[in-house]
Amino acid sequence: MEKYLKKIAVLGSTGSIGTQTLDVVRANKDLKVEALGAGSNIELLEQQIREFRPRLAAVYREEKAAELRERVRDLDVTVVSGMEGLLELAVLPETEILVTAIVGMIGIRPTIAAIEAGKDIALANKETLVTAGHLIMPLAKEKGVKILPVDSEHSAIFQCLSGSDGRAIDKLLITASGGPFRGRKKDALAHVTVEDALRHPNWSMGHKITIDSATLVNKGLEVMEARWLFGVELEDIQVVVQPKSIIHSMVQFVDGAVMAQLGTPDMKLPIQYALYYPQRRYLAGERLDFKTLREITFEEPDMETFEGLPLAIGAAKEGGTMPTVFNAANEALVARFLKKEIGFLDIYEGIRGAMEDHRKRENPSLEEILLAEREARDWVESHKF
Ligand code: NAD
Ligand code: MG
Repeated sequence: MEKYLKKIAVLGSTGSIGTQTLDVVRANKDLKVEALGAGSNIELLEQQIREFRPRLAAVYREEKAAELRERVRDLDVTVVSGMEGLLELAVLPETEILVTAIVGMIGIRPTIAAIEAGKDIALANKETLVTAGHLIMPLAKEKGVKILPVDSEHSAIFQCLSGSDGRAIDKLLITASGGPFRGRKKDALAHVTVEDALRHPNWSMGHKITIDSATLVNKGLEVMEARWLFGVELEDIQVVVQPKSIIHSMVQFVDGAVMAQLGTPDMKLPIQYALYYPQRRYLAGERLDFKTLREITFEEPDMETFEGLPLAIGAAKEGGTMPTVFNAANEALVARFLKKEIGFLDIYEGIRGAMEDHRKRENPSLEEILLAEREARDWVESHKF
C-alpha cells in the first residue's frame, strides 16, 4: 500500500515562517509539498523547488516569474505569476492544507479562495484575519475547513483549549515580550534607528513583524486575531508582558483554572502542531531547563509609550473597516520606516491620522476592505511627517 502523504502548499515559502515550514517537512517523511509561492526571491525559491519538487510555483512579480521559468526548465514544474498565480496556488486540487506564510493583507484573496476550495488553513498571516475575520470565520465554518493557528500565542491558546470546553473560557491571556524597547519612555523612542528596532530579544522573524513587535502593533494585531479565532469578546483578552517568551499564552477558565503552554521560542513547534493537528510529533531542539530558568516574570504593558496596542484596541472596538485602516496604514508606515523615510514614532502618528481621516463602513465586503486598504495606503504615502 502506498504511504499516505499529507499534501501541502506554502504561500510565502522564502520567508521566516515559510523556510521553517520546509524545515518541518524535511524532518518528517509524510508531508508532500505540492506548491510553493513567494514574492520575488527566486534564488531561494529555485533551491526549494529542486529540493521539494512541487508541481506548481507562484511568483508574484511577473518578470521574476519569467526568470524562474527559465531557471527550472529542466524540471516538471509550472511557474505562474501575479495575484492570479497566488490564487491558482491556493486552490490547487492536489493539496489539503495551505500554509499562509505570506506577509500582509495581500493574503486575503488567496486565503478566501483556498477556504472556498475546501482547504484547511495553517494560518500565520495574521493581517488577513484582522481585516477580513468577519468573512473568513463564517466561510470556514460553512465549508467545514479548519483554521489552524501558527502564530505562537494563538497556537498556545489552541493547545490549552484542547480537551476543554471552549464555552468555559473566562479570558485569554496573551503574552508579549515587550520588544526591544521595553522599559523605555516616549522621548527615548523618537530617534531609534531601523537597526535598533530590528533587534528582537527572543525571536528571529521577517522585518515587518519585527518592527510590529517593537511598536506593539503586533500584539494589537494578535488581540484582534484571537478574537476571531476563539470567538471571545475584546474585554476578555488581556495582554501580559513576559519578557523571556517562555510562556506562549494562557487561558483562564470560569472555574479559575489557568492553562498555559510553555516552551523554548521556536516557531517550528506551532507550525508542526498545525500541520499534524491533533497529533503531536517529535521535534528536535532545545528543551526548557527549569533548573537554570529559575523564574518567570510578568509586567503590565506600557500602553502610554507603546501606542500600537491601544490604537489596535480602539480600531477593534470601532469594527467595520477600521481594523483594515489600522492594519493597512501600519503596513505602509512600516515600509516607509524600513526605508528610513520616517521615524519610529511617526508610525503611531500615521496610524492615528489615517484612522481619524477614515469614514467607517460596517460589515465590509471584500471589495470594501480592499478599498479601505487603498485609501489608508494613499493617506500614508501622501502624508508629510
Ligand atoms: P517574511 O518577510 O520573512 O516572509 C514573507 C514571505 O511572504 C516571503 O516568502 C515573501 O516572498 C512572501 N511575500 C511577500 N509579498 C508577497 C507577494 N506579493 N506575493 C507572494 N508572496 C509574497 O515574513 P514572516 O516573518 O515569515 O511572516 C509571515 C507572516 O507570518 C506574517 O503575517 C507574520 O505576521 C506572521 N508571523 C510570523 C512569525 C515569525 O516568527 N516570523 C510569527 C508569527 C506570525
Ligand atoms: Mg505572535
